[in-house]
Amino acid sequence: NADGAMYHAKASGRNNYQFFKEAMNQTAARHFELESSLRGALAADEFELHFQPIMDIGTRRLHAMEVLLRWRRGGVELVQPDQFIPIIEENGMIVSIGEWVIRQACKQIMLWQSQGMTPVPLAVNLSPRQFMHRGLVESIRDILDETGIDPALIEFEITETALMEHGEQTLEILGHINAMGIRLSIDDFGTGYSSLAYLKRFPVKKIKIDRAFIKDLEESAEDRAIVAAIIALSDSLQLSVVAEGVETEGQYALLQRDGCQYAQGYLFSQPVPHATAQLLLPRC
Ligand code: C2E
Ligand code: MG
Ligand code: MG
Ligand code: MG
Repeated sequence: NADGAMYHAKASGRNNYQFFKEAMNQTAARHFELESSLRGALAADEFELHFQPIMDIGTRRLHAMEVLLRWRRGGVELVQPDQFIPIIEENGMIVSIGEWVIRQACKQIMLWQSQGMTPVPLAVNLSPRQFMHRGLVESIRDILDETGIDPALIEFEITETALMEHGEQTLEILGHINAMGIRLSIDDFGTGYSSLAYLKRFPVKKIKIDRAFIKDLEESAEDRAIVAAIIALSDSLQLSVVAEGVETEGQYALLQRDGCQYAQGYLFSQPVPHATAQLLLPRC
């Protein structure tokens, strides 16, 4: 570990460069180790979906759930997405793992239906690389055919940055997805280019205000102004709006006052495994 390297570097009287190099090697080694254990993870069935409620602010009822990927490394340790999504995004494994996520979400909907529950829409994150992959539209179509679920029960979340990166091709893919009856939302709104023009151009139905603007809502008049402006904008464009990362009743009250429709965050629930998530679903 780094402490060991530091001690070693001091003890042997080597310079900072030498220490830096060792630390880098350790980061690279950890990256390499993660990457190689990720290679077998899909086949070993080590991924699982967690679900986080998205609540209707007016009624305080369940509106939808976001699907969040977890890696049960070696069948034991639960690894969070920020530890491994960047790696699989970089090496391309996100394409197959992302497809697994979509399929698994659709299967979960089917399963809940077959058990007499009324599923709410599941929102699945799409990464930029996955989004630009040629086979995406076809694999979505296959999954819908295979599972036979109502496409209105699936939503995709895409970040602004992913949308802005590629012009015409993006528009075409979004068009195909929209035509299948799957709704699209913009994730982490406000953190990317924040070019508002695309809200009009792209067939999106919902925007999710990034947690960065919600975190200090109670203390910061500036953040309140930004959030109110985003809500007003979505209103006039007839888009639904979700606030991410709502943790306090104070934030909730402010969002309600400003006319935000939906909220997601630890105030209601952390992301939970399917067995817990299903307790939140109404039964038919
Ligand atoms: P995201 O799509 O913006 O998801 C919301 C993240 O905020 C989740 O982190 C969630 O656990 C966290 N969160 C929700 N409410 C609160 C709150 O009140 N306070 C705080 N501090 N955090 C809250 P998570 O699960 O660690 O996921 C991180 C990111 O990883 C996601 O951000 C998404 O970009 C990515 N990700 C997760 N699952 C997938 C997936 O299946 N595919 C792809 N491509 N990306 C995924
Ligand atoms: Mg998301
Ligand atoms: Mg987000
Ligand atoms: Mg995020």
